[in-house]
Amino acid sequence: MPHDEVTRIGTIFGEIIQNKSRMINLEIWNIHKNGSLVLLSTSGVPILDADGNLTGYRGVDKDITVMRKAQGDLVRSEETLNRAQAVAKIGNWSLDIATGKLEWSKESYRLFGREEGTPVTQADFVAYTHPDDREMAISAWEYAMNTRTPFFVDHRIVVEEEILWVREQGYVELDTEGKPLFWLGTVQDITHLKETELLLQETNQQLTIKSIAADEANRAKSEFLANMSHEIRTPMNGVIGMSSILLESGLSPEQREYAEIVSRSGESLLVLINDILDFSKIESGKLELEQIDFNLQQILDDINRLLAYRAHDAGLMLTYAIDPEVPVLLKGDPGRLRQVVTNLVGNALKFTQRGSVTVSAALVSDQGGVAIVKFSIVDTGIGIPASRVSALFTPFTQVDASTTRKYGGTGLGLAISKQLAELMGGEIGIVSEEGSGSTFWFTARFEKQSPKAIESKHDNRGTTSAQDTILTTATKREAHTAHILLAEDNHINQKVALHMLKTIGLTVDAVADGQQAIEALTKVKYDLVLMDCMMPVMNGYDATARIRDLNSEVLNHHIPIIAMTANAMKEDRDKCIEAGMDDYVSKPVKKDQLALVLEKWLTSAAPIENKTVEAGSY
Ligand code: ADP
Repeated sequence: MPHDEVTRIGTIFGEIIQNKSRMINLEIWNIHKNGSLVLLSTSGVPILDADGNLTGYRGVDKDITVMRKAQGDLVRSEETLNRAQAVAKIGNWSLDIATGKLEWSKESYRLFGREEGTPVTQADFVAYTHPDDREMAISAWEYAMNTRTPFFVDHRIVVEEEILWVREQGYVELDTEGKPLFWLGTVQDITHLKETELLLQETNQQLTIKSIAADEANRAKSEFLANMSHEIRTPMNGVIGMSSILLESGLSPEQREYAEIVSRSGESLLVLINDILDFSKIESGKLELEQIDFNLQQILDDINRLLAYRAHDAGLMLTYAIDPEVPVLLKGDPGRLRQVVTNLVGNALKFTQRGSVTVSAALVSDQGGVAIVKFSIVDTGIGIPASRVSALFTPFTQVDASTTRKYGGTGLGLAISKQLAELMGGEIGIVSEEGSGSTFWFTARFEKQSPKAIESKHDNRGTTSAQDTILTTATKREAHTAHILLAEDNHINQKVALHMLKTIGLTVDAVADGQQAIEALTKVKYDLVLMDCMMPVMNGYDATARIRDLNSEVLNHHIPIIAMTANAMKEDRDKCIEAGMDDYVSKPVKKDQLALVLEKWLTSAAPIENKTVEAGSY
């Protein structure tokens, strides 16, 4: 027997001997023969002689080592389970359906803040359930009970005035006849999970609100830019128009030089305004591409002609080539295509000191009436460092500040080109080596013109293009000078337009608002009205409506009305046409452009002096 045990047992026996009648009932640790410890359960009754003296004990010893170990294991595993339940905050329960008696695990008691071991019933549980969730929880329970399916429900409980979220899962245990006996289940504290979920929902909501606000801010920005563009265009019309009037007058060489500088500065400001406007339009998703027939060969010819002088002045060779398999009769937006190519060729010329710039068009695919064409613009210029390539297509980015100073520019051209290429269903990219040149390329997707349409166009040749219109009208000229009414409130712009119209050879009367225009039209039979849109008293749209109104007093309700406005967006043009106007010229008005439009609408008008017409400006 171990030493500690000898002392303990000695004491116990001492007590027993004093109280002779006492039974023995002890557990004693002893040492087995083989040296291991064994636990013996000893019980015995006292043996007394006739005089009542204790003579000995009769009893049994039982080895309970194994049993005690099993009991210990059980207690330990229960403890482990309890601890695991506490960590996971999952309690378990069982419900006797016949009696309504609930049995809870330790964690269940803790979760409901109830003293361990106190009796609980189903009614207690219902009382803990949050009043607002009670109906839902009970009906989930009843459904599971009726359908004999497992049940799963999240609901709130109220424990000592605190609201907690719990997740209940359970199933019903049936007897052999299928009658429900017990419910077995778990209850988990998911308050933390729910709080995170709610927080996440809230964050998502806030993010949505923020993104709506960002969209709104972006829209406001685009609107602001469009307004700015309008406001800048109006005085620009004055600057460009007046400087061209000045250049036509007798100037000393020095004065001419200054006037030319004013004119060029005006032109470059206009390019900038157009870029910003384009950019904001694309960014706000407002830019719509046209879908009209065009000839690719003609577009590249035009660009080549336009930029040949610049290339020549810079001592560079500008060449272009279209692979023979590329279909040239396509449908798409020739203006935007021209804009991207012109921009890339313009850059190539700008950043190349010597050598050449080559433009080529190759076929990527031609399927189902759709052709994808790849345009490449190769230069032998300064090239772009690899580290800067990825940033080039983001707005307002240039290779570096010193290049900016040397070459000027806004860093918008490539960003716009990228967006336009993407709008045309293509991509844009660059291959470049610093010091030896760059290749900018982009692809675009075009529908091919149907063979039938091509044929009929061929038959009608000579009557459809703007150039042809001029020729036709030129032959129809009559001897009278067309009489035009100009409605324009801005004094300077009125002067510019009057000068242009007079040099074109027309007779013009000017008024300052729509009301005055109506009055003039009731008195004189004009041939055409040039109408500004935004004017005081009565704007151009309302004036047009009055003119077209057959009940109004004007002499000719069908007179051609051409809008002349600083609003340069496509929807502005649509608005003019919707208002009943016939055509549209955007400010700053170019004389050539104006002449072309007038030529078109004055079919029996006076001779028009300026026949070199160039359309297609922004
Ligand atoms: P901008 O020319 O108005 O500054 P872009 O967006 O057209 O704006 O071009 C951005 C920058 O990309 C230019 O400033 C220049 O640094 C670089 N870049 C564009 N094209 C070329 C080219 N062909 N060769 C070298 N650098 C170029």
